[in-house]
Amino acid sequence: MNIIFLGAPGSGKGTQAAMLAKELNIPAISTGEVLRKEVDQQTEIGKIAKSRMELGKLVPDEVVVDIIKNRIVKLDCDKGFILDGFPRNLTQALILDEMLSELNKRIDRVFNFDVSEEVLIKRISGRFSCKKCGTVYNRYFRQPAKEGVCDNCGSIEFESRNDDNEATVKNRLKVYRESTFALIQFYQKNNLLVSVAAIESAPLIFEVLIKSMKTI
Ligand code: ADP
Repeated sequence: MNIIFLGAPGSGKGTQAAMLAKELNIPAISTGEVLRKEVDQQTEIGKIAKSRMELGKLVPDEVVVDIIKNRIVKLDCDKGFILDGFPRNLTQALILDEMLSELNKRIDRVFNFDVSEEVLIKRISGRFSCKKCGTVYNRYFRQPAKEGVCDNCGSIEFESRNDDNEATVKNRLKVYRESTFALIQFYQKNNLLVSVAAIESAPLIFEVLIKSMKTI
């Protein structure tokens, strides 16, 4: 089962990707996460990506395409994968189609996470996560049960993403609006697109995904 998650920054697709990956026992591949690791490790890719990510701009197509190309041929993708954050524009989508057909694979479903910009800005600028286990919280919507202590692992150290500040967020949303419309149309035309009202709670959205997966 090969699945794509489309959605603006803050639409909750990362959370759902992790949940669905666990349920289906397939990997969730987040280009954003891979890129953040490369930046942390100061690799060549990281050096190219850093300034663009900090400005909320897209990293060059060749860089992310290479990341995906190397990742989807790995053994754990045999039964399928979830792509979170890729493709981000039509060029990437067309390259992905080519890549998959060479591997005799295809996309089975594309979920589009739909949510208003007002909510998105709050979700992103309020977002922080546990430094140790990565559990994600939000200043406005989801604080840990005990303030300053991670619900999942008890750690007291938290961090925010470098690009989760208001100026960068606005730019990320602009880039998203500009490049994603064509993508949505593309997958709609191919009859692969399912839109999900991403304003609902995480468990409810997850139910919608599971129901939809049963129809494949
Ligand atoms: P968000 O969707 O919340 O912006 P991501 O973690 O998906 O967060 O991406 C963070 C940043 O990584 C993006 O702003 C962009 O600079 C870069 N990036 C991630 N995926 C891609 C992609 N497919 N193409 C180009 N740049 C990407």
